[in-house]
Formats: sequence, C-alpha cells, structure tokens
Amino acid sequence: MNIQTLEKHLLTLVTLGEADAPVVSCYLNLEAGLDAARQAIDERVRLLRKSLPQPQRELFEQAFTQIHTRLAAGFLEESLGVAVFSRGGAQEFFLDLEFRVPLPSWISVNSTPNIYHLVELKDTYDRYVVVIANDHNTRVLEVHLGTITDAMLAERPELQDRVGRGWSRDHYQSNRREHDHQFANEVVRIAGEVMATGKYRHLVLAGTPRMTALLRQALPKQLESKLIDVVPASDKDRTRDVVAATLASFIEEEQQESLAAVEMLEREIRRHGLAVAGAGASLQALKNHQVDLLVMATEYVPEPAWTCAECDVAAVQQGLPAICPSCGSSKTRRLDVKEELARLAELGGCGIEIVHDSEILMQMGGVGCLLRFLTSDAVGLHPAVARG
Ligand SMILES: [Zn+2]
Repeated sequence: MNIQTLEKHLLTLVTLGEADAPVVSCYLNLEAGLDAARQAIDERVRLLRKSLPQPQRELFEQAFTQIHTRLAAGFLEESLGVAVFSRGGAQEFFLDLEFRVPLPSWISVNSTPNIYHLVELKDTYDRYVVVIANDHNTRVLEVHLGTITDAMLAERPELQDRVGRGWSRDHYQSNRREHDHQFANEVVRIAGEVMATGKYRHLVLAGTPRMTALLRQALPKQLESKLIDVVPASDKDRTRDVVAATLASFIEEEQQESLAAVEMLEREIRRHGLAVAGAGASLQALKNHQVDLLVMATEYVPEPAWTCAECDVAAVQQGLPAICPSCGSSKTRRLDVKEELARLAELGGCGIEIVHDSEILMQMGGVGCLLRFLTSDAVGLHPAVARG
C-alpha cells in the first residue's frame, strides 16, 4: 500500500460519523504468523465481551463476527501488519488494511475508529526513494510503508566485449570512465525526477562501493541534501534484503527528525513562542486549527477526559459529568485524548511526529504542538477545557 492510499483510508476513518453501534478497531502483528497474533488478542476479546453491557455487547459481537470472517480468509504472505475496522448495527462499516511493515496486536471498542497505530505507522515508515546500483543493472525504487515499486530499471550496456575487438586498453579505460559518468548522470536525473514528482524528502543509495561513489559524485546539491545513507550491497543480495537495510536507515533518520521536532517545541515553549504543550492545550490548539505539527510521545498515556456529543466541548483531567456543564446535554462520554489528538491532526491535515524515548517530551506532558499562529485569547489560559 502506498502513502496516498493510506491517507485516503485515514480520511475515511476520521470522518466516519458516530452511530449507536461501537467501532471495533483490531490491529494484528503477523511477524510470528496469524495464529500467534490471534492468540495475542484473544484474552482482550474475552475481557471486552465481559465489560460491555447490552445492547453494546450484541453490537460488538456483530462487528467482531465480520472481523473473525476476514481473519479466517487469511492474508498475503508478505504482510506483517493488519488493521481491521468493523461496526455492526444499522450503519454498518468495514475496512481492512494490509501492510508490509509490522503493527502491534491490539483491539479496542470505541465510538469512532482508533487510528493512532496507523498514524504511528505512517510517520515511522513513510516513503523514500532508493537507488540500487551494481555493475550489471541499476534500479530506482519507491518505498512506501515498506512496499517496493520499481520506478526505473536500466541494464548497463556491456563495454567488456568491445575489448579485444580492436580497442586498446587505454581506449577502453577512458571510454569506460566517460560511459560511467554519463550513466551516473542519467540515473541521477531519473531519480531526481521521481523524487520531484512524488514530493520525496529522502533518498538512499545502495550498491557496490564503485557504483554508489559514482552516483554520489553525480548528485546535484538539492538531491545531496536529501541523501540519508549509502548502504553496501552486491549483485548477489536480494532486493528485499537491500530494501530492508535501507528501511533501517530511514527509521533512524525519522527518529532524528522527531527529536529535532521536540527540540524546536522546547525552544518555542521556553521563549513563549509558537507552541503549546500538554493534552488540554494541544486539544484546544487543534480545535482552533492553529497546529502546524503535532508532536506526540509513543509512551504518552492519555489522562482521563470527556467530551459532549451535543456541543463538542472536551475536558482533560476531569471525571465524566452526567450533564454537560457547557450546554446541559446528557450526551457526555469518555474521551481517549491520544486518539482524539491524532484524529483532529489527521482531519486538519497537520503534520504528526511520533517520538520514541524523549524524556523532555514526557516532562512536557507527552504531547505538544508547533503552531502556525497564536490566538488573541492566549491558548493555555484554560488548558483543561477545549471548545469546538
Ligand atoms: Zn455540551
């Protein structure tokens, strides 16, 4: 699956209107096979069944039956992660997604689809371009969420057979250098075109030292700045293994960018600039459409929160009131703030950085936002209550 398709599905999920029936969000890690993944969620399913009162339980069973049927049909051998969303009742909904990269095994029941793990997957694996070059052929690959697509395959015309057909060794050597140069320029030109068309921000070179050095020399500045790693690979290596090695480089680069986002957040907070931290202030900023980038820690554990379906007010770090203090409605319900932050960020088309192992971010409340502008009523004065 490519990024654009995932974004289309995410939009479907974040705009799915609430219904009387709950949505079951089921994620599976297939690295150890489907049976192991199912075992990992079985206990959770038993617990969910016990926790739900009627008629929610009946509606859960309807939704889970659809998931069960889908799992029984099996998945592609290459798939390492699966996400299935299902809702029963009058407004049925079903969506299943397969990925070449892993997801955790995890299942939940909520009024809306739980998308956090998809958002994390999108941020972690994203997309980049790989040029694999060895002495026989060169490939320009687009890698989206671990899925490989060939953008170009070029055979290297053999010069070897011309030696001995009248060419002197000197002539061959200088011809080969000239030929190499032309070939590298052509490959780099194509890679540049692919990157510009697909709006890629990252490039990885892989291949034999001689070929990757040639390509590197041929890179114009603007592509050189996007180069994140050079990975050694020979003719004998399988493409899948080479790409797996480049994926590790990309994940490392992505983590560095996440930490850079945390640093910027910290700097802006200190100088009272364009940033907010903490769940309440972040929720308010997202509702105000102020957010440029949502920065969230993987370790962030959401505080208790509630929202009102009638007036869309939301409050963090407060117990669930029977009556909404804002509009008097009884349509109050618990809110998973982590999910709501991810949902609003996706809905608003904001950037999202998911950050691992950042003590600073956790000290700031586990979540924060870089803002595009400040509002006149100074966000942060009412950090606990967010109005829609
Ligand atoms: Zn209300």
